[in-house]
Amino acid sequence: MLKKVMIANRGEIAVRIVRACAEAGIRSVAIYTEPDRYGLHVKRADEAYSVGADPLRGYLDPAGIVNLAVQTGCDAIHPGYGFLSENAEFARLCEEKGVTFIGPSSDVIHRMGDKTQARDSMRAAGVPITPGSDGNLADVNEALALADKVGYPVMIKATSGGGGRGIRRCDSPDELRQQYPRVISEATKAFGSAEVFLEKCIVNPRHIEVQILGDSQGQVVHLFERDCSIQRRNQKLIEIAPSPQLTPEQRSYIGGLAVKAAEAVGYVNAGTVEFLLSGNEVYFMEMNTRVQVEHTITEAITGIDIVREQLRIAGGLPLSVRQEDIQHRGYALQFRINAEDPKNDFLPSFGRISHYYAPGGPGVRVDTAIYTGYEIPPYFDSMCLKLVVWALTWEEVIARGKRALDDMRLHGIKTTAQYYQQILGHPDFASACFDTSFVPSHPELLNYSTKRHPSEVALAIAAAITAHAGF
Ligand code: ADP
Ligand code: ADP
Ligand code: MG
Repeated sequence: MLKKVMIANRGEIAVRIVRACAEAGIRSVAIYTEPDRYGLHVKRADEAYSVGADPLRGYLDPAGIVNLAVQTGCDAIHPGYGFLSENAEFARLCEEKGVTFIGPSSDVIHRMGDKTQARDSMRAAGVPITPGSDGNLADVNEALALADKVGYPVMIKATSGGGGRGIRRCDSPDELRQQYPRVISEATKAFGSAEVFLEKCIVNPRHIEVQILGDSQGQVVHLFERDCSIQRRNQKLIEIAPSPQLTPEQRSYIGGLAVKAAEAVGYVNAGTVEFLLSGNEVYFMEMNTRVQVEHTITEAITGIDIVREQLRIAGGLPLSVRQEDIQHRGYALQFRINAEDPKNDFLPSFGRISHYYAPGGPGVRVDTAIYTGYEIPPYFDSMCLKLVVWALTWEEVIARGKRALDDMRLHGIKTTAQYYQQILGHPDFASACFDTSFVPSHPELLNYSTKRHPSEVALAIAAAITAHAGF
């Protein structure tokens, strides 16, 4: 088993990893840049080291982080999600320096992080992929010819994209000519690579992804699926496990496909295979070779601690479960509470949290790094809290979600919480009938009232008086 783990990340996922380490008896080491000096991950880890004044550079410096891990006697590095988590060079450097990278091998990251190479591997393994490119596009003419062949609408996508960025839908040749250079420039800016490819656009699909785990003994299992169809601009807002929209046959078919995909590349560690589902058709979309933001809901329905399994796998231990022992029970929802103003085109709303009261009660989990008085820095992701609810039935989980969102108090910034109440209240959500077009086709859900409840106003006044009096 591992003894000391460096966490090359920040925010809620760094705190999540600290917790898993503590439960496994592993020492945790945090890193932080200047704006994160008062971050919760710094307070909670066993040791913490500054990696510079620049807000981002220290988190994105492979050599600096690996050297620090060696100097501080860490035997492994957990990259979390985002930052260097899917950076093959970082994993390779870890391998070179004899530090265990908590993820798959650098070769597998390289192969799956490049979306066109991933498509090649899946094609070869007999996993269905969306019709489209055979490698990267050379120029717009190739894109136009290919679009004619597969039929409009099509998607132009950044080959090394992620986080929902670098994806544009094109409904006609004119639009394709317009969007092509835009995706290239977006990809170059965001991912440092100008490579793009084309896929047929699956109209109004469901986003279904499967959590998998693979150990170094060659065992691969799946932990069922998550439905992430509630998205805005290709970014997930509310995630659900298991999907309330799948038949048991579809569930076992898609789980099997994900295991086949993982086995085809010799996958080790936790990962996610993402699919688009349209009617009865399933298409492989991409594989994420890291822990995902929404791993929490799979933990809720299976009882398996995914980060703990990652630590076990990286320490050379076999998975603690066999496929036939893995079961799911009830439903879980995760709300990504973002520091954004839904009423103002989801503009980021950074600033000081004047008052935070955590929701609780049965079936409620909160993963966050915020606290009352915490100042959300403007340099990072706007997601500031993950609220996860679990209940035995679909009806109950919706009621619990509404109740927990209502329980929570988060003052000082604007968030997406109230908007999620509107989604939960929609009849299509209640009857479990939605696809990725749900959010864009219901702009009226943004017309909610932000008028505060009288008790909340009283609370805000009390907080202001307390702050003023310097208590
Ligand atoms: P998940 O895939 O876990 O559901 P997201 O797609 O929202 O989550 O990504 C999680 C975080 O990682 C976000 O901050 C996102 O911006 C970042 N991210 C994801 N993929 C990449 C990438 N290829 N390059 C840079 N950042 C990425
Ligand atoms: P990222 O790496 O940014 O997560 P993905 O390839 O997973 O990018 O796509 C993100 C989202 O974009 C999907 O969940 C889906 O809603 C939409 N999308 C991507 N490709 C297609 C496609 N070919 N047809 C329809 N929607 C797509
Ligand atoms: Mg994706």
